[in-house]
Amino acid sequence: MIHAIRVHEHGGPEKLTWDELPKPNPKPGEVLIRQHAVGLNYIDVYFRTGLYKAPSMPVTIGMEGAGVVEAVGEAVTDFRPGDRVAYAGALGAYAEYRCAPAEKLVKIPDGIDFTQAAAMMLQGMTAQFLVKRTYPVKRGDTILVHAAAGGVGSILVQWAKHLGATVIGVVSTPEKADLVKGLGADHALLTSEAIPARVKEITGGAMLPVVYDSVGKDTFLTSLDCLRPFGLMISYGNASGPVTTDLGVLAAKGSLYVTRPTLNTYTAKREDLVATANDLFGVVKSGAVKIAVNQTFPLKDAAEAHRALESRRTTGSTVLIP
Ligand code: NDP
Repeated sequence: MIHAIRVHEHGGPEKLTWDELPKPNPKPGEVLIRQHAVGLNYIDVYFRTGLYKAPSMPVTIGMEGAGVVEAVGEAVTDFRPGDRVAYAGALGAYAEYRCAPAEKLVKIPDGIDFTQAAAMMLQGMTAQFLVKRTYPVKRGDTILVHAAAGGVGSILVQWAKHLGATVIGVVSTPEKADLVKGLGADHALLTSEAIPARVKEITGGAMLPVVYDSVGKDTFLTSLDCLRPFGLMISYGNASGPVTTDLGVLAAKGSLYVTRPTLNTYTAKREDLVATANDLFGVVKSGAVKIAVNQTFPLKDAAEAHRALESRRTTGSTVLIP
């Protein structure tokens, strides 16, 4: 038997239950993984509350993990028992053992441990596609990152700096502002400030070509006010709730572009997944981007981890240990 954290009905962190289940067997195309570390992500909250719907209930939530291959199903040729593997985007991660599709896995390179791998796959690959593909950041750009001390945010800040941008991070507390400056951000603004006015000052009135916004409802309009005409609003998350604004506002604020990207689309093809993961492993191994695992919790205490994440008490990445 194994243990997993499951959701039987949607609701608060108290709905996460530590269940005993039979050890799964890999189906064709799947790999059985003994998990050493599981990544905590905001999407786990959305699946717990029901904002995002699982295909069936009860559901083992969690999208990201790292561990050792214990067995492989039929037709799996790229992995074998003993391989160190990691993945993102495969529901069912909050478990001691799990089966996952082989096509979602990558091998963990030497020099990266399980905790780091579980901390970086989802947030790091997200940062990768955001700065390399959704809006390719280049030297001379000034960009704004919301929730800059968070999991995705702290990787985004470092990666954008590495690419030569001037980075403005927005955070809720002075302590987080110090953290974001330590990551290399040129400016750390507080959510309590008048953000568009501060951006105007910093850019000498030019405003920004792009804003990276994972907060959603509370920041959407403020973000649009930070853009120059034809600027790109990247709305990639809903930590404060989903955006419901009418599109007419894009015209009124300067023929703006909006995209709502997701890692799923950007890594749907195996070759894109492998290229994205390799790029991430490269910047981490070079030291240009550091993965800060600032909190760890036993997997069975996932409810505590959710409370910390939702009450904005976490910074950087958080890992659950089975
Ligand atoms: P974070 O570590 O960034 O945690 C969320 C942060 O959001 C908080 O620390 C807080 O920072 C800020 N925040 C602002 N308003 C609220 C609110 N009302 N409630 C809670 N937090 C709030 O989480 P992750 O790094 O895991 O994820 C960041 C975002 O990126 C999420 O929205 C997630 O859904 C999204 N995401 C999207 C992906 C995609 O493919 N599109 C993939 C991965 C993540 P502060 O206190 O400084 O304001």
